[in-house]
Amino acid sequence: MDILTTPPEVRAWVGERRRRAQRIGLVPTMGCLHAGHLSLVRLARQRADAVVLSVFVNPIQFGPGDNLAGYPRDLERDQRLCREAGVAALFLPSAEALYPAGHSTFVEEVWFSRGLCGDRRPGHFKGVTTIVAKLFNLVQPDVAVFGRKDAQQARVIQQMTRDLDFPVEIVLGPTVREADGLAMSSRNQHLNADQRRQALCLARALDAAARRLTAGERNAAALIAVMREEISRAPQARVDYLEIVDNETFEPVATLKRTALALLAVHVGGTRLIDNALLTPDGL
Ligand code: AMP
Repeated sequence: MDILTTPPEVRAWVGERRRRAQRIGLVPTMGCLHAGHLSLVRLARQRADAVVLSVFVNPIQFGPGDNLAGYPRDLERDQRLCREAGVAALFLPSAEALYPAGHSTFVEEVWFSRGLCGDRRPGHFKGVTTIVAKLFNLVQPDVAVFGRKDAQQARVIQQMTRDLDFPVEIVLGPTVREADGLAMSSRNQHLNADQRRQALCLARALDAAARRLTAGERNAAALIAVMREEISRAPQARVDYLEIVDNETFEPVATLKRTALALLAVHVGGTRLIDNALLTPDGL
């Protein structure tokens, strides 16, 4: 596995692979890898000859209250996991390499970036689209793989790719969960044992809504109330948002007539966790 740290190194590496007519896959991450990330590598390997995984804790997608410095990092382990997963190149740029002094250009998607995490984390998606656009330009992947765990981010990136004519196929991987249902996240490391138990309230809330839907409930407010009640059972959990939107338009829905997406962000202790699930009424 090659380790690349600067944009010129990436360009040279990519150029060499292209001369050999290889298809290139990209998996962007912020590191501290877990089985969710590795599932994306597998999807990329199925669609490409060589997979580049980037580990970059992108400072411009963190707001003032987002604890950039406290984001978990474990580069040695990341390297080992990438090697075992068959990653061809690990891209580990420094912040200075990607944002040298004087950097003043940003990429912003303005429709799907509204609401949900977009409202709670101003500037977050602008940071995400900027770094993903830069990675697309540097790595020039044929295919890039992202997780459905970050459903709004995935939608924003799909839109940016379309709007800016990036010749990149976007593939979305399903959310990988711990055995008890908690969505895997690098942030889960911040939870103590008690918070770890309480963090299950997110997955439980989504399950409860799905069960109520199966039982015939189509009213979004009623399904949201079911989820809110499930979260309220966890004393250290505080809802940031809890919404049901149309899976295509991301507009809030009042009555579920076609596939919708339930999304929630919940603070458990000092850690903000997100999760989501499709809600598909019977007969679809
Ligand atoms: P992150 O390192 O958290 O920025 O995530 C990097 C990529 O991995 C993003 O496309 C995420 O959506 C994806 N991802 C994170 N957690 C999971 C998970 N539990 N299952 C599947 N994909 C995930």
